[in-house]
Amino acid sequence: MQLIDGKKLAQEIKIEIADEVKKMVMSGKRTPHLVAVLVGDDGASRTYVNSKVKSCEEVGFKSTFIRLERDITENELLAQINTLNNDDAVDGFIIQLPLPKHIDEEKILLAIAPEKDVDGFHPTNVGRMTLNLPGYISATPKGILEMLNRYNIETEGKHCVVIGRSNIVGLPMSLLMQRRSKPGNCTVTICHSKTNDLSKYTLQADIIIAALGKPKFLTADMVKKGAVVIDVGITRVDDPSKKSGFKLLGDVDFEHVSKKCSYISPVPGGVGLMTVVSLLQNTLSAAKEEFYAKSMSFDVDNL
Ligand code: NAD
Repeated sequence: MQLIDGKKLAQEIKIEIADEVKKMVMSGKRTPHLVAVLVGDDGASRTYVNSKVKSCEEVGFKSTFIRLERDITENELLAQINTLNNDDAVDGFIIQLPLPKHIDEEKILLAIAPEKDVDGFHPTNVGRMTLNLPGYISATPKGILEMLNRYNIETEGKHCVVIGRSNIVGLPMSLLMQRRSKPGNCTVTICHSKTNDLSKYTLQADIIIAALGKPKFLTADMVKKGAVVIDVGITRVDDPSKKSGFKLLGDVDFEHVSKKCSYISPVPGGVGLMTVVSLLQNTLSAAKEEFYAKSMSFDVDNL
């Protein structure tokens, strides 16, 4: 079994990004600028945003952290998005999810200008990804592709089972794995909460991508010998022995599954770190105008 070391890969990619930033600055361009917006003060969301902001600093990006009160109205948040959409000094921005219940998440994601949507959640970017056109690919699936690519894991002709069909992980992941691309060209099965006899599918899989959010759900008896297993799940579980008071568990029973598979990504130290790096890659693409020209001005009221 080979461990897919997300920490090592993320570090490598950060060095590559930092080198590009240096070159951009030396050629007279300004540093890429990412803005992260957090509504409320949820502990896990704050940790994610802090890690994104810290990673920006590591690669030489400018980053701005905007924290808004939990009781902000939907219109106030839309106005903030409008400002960021039209601010030429901002290359990309993210609105950390989940949002408080009184705010319509779909409306908020639709208001983000596609060219600044470095999370890749806007339907324009999802559509481009689906059609294999250039655009921002959402960070977690993009990070998984990078893992498969950098570990030279063959995907063509393989059977990939994705567990979970969420808009941010399972669904885009399954679309990406079947694309005529490298990594890609898989035969894909999507399993979800209504799938009967899930093991029937996972036992046939050459590649399993587990993204359901249920700790240690995927057990060794569900995995074919030699399979590649990517663990996306992150669940906080109380652990008084830790300084933080909790530990992170993945969706895979790592101890037993790792003895059976060819490659496995751990939690922590796997997909989570790649997700942050993908966001940096998308921001760099935004700064370089790789997918969209910045001339468009966006007005939320006209959507
Ligand atoms: P979600 O709750 O939106 O979706 C979960 C999916 O799992 C659903 O599609 C559901 O149908 C499926 N599911 C639930 N129970 C199931 C079961 N018993 N059998 C088969 N399918 C089942 O979650 P999400 O946003 O996709 O996140 C999934 C997990 O990945 C969570 O633990 C989350 O914290 C983690 N996550 C990690 C990263 C990262 O960077 N590593 C990024 C995003 C999400």
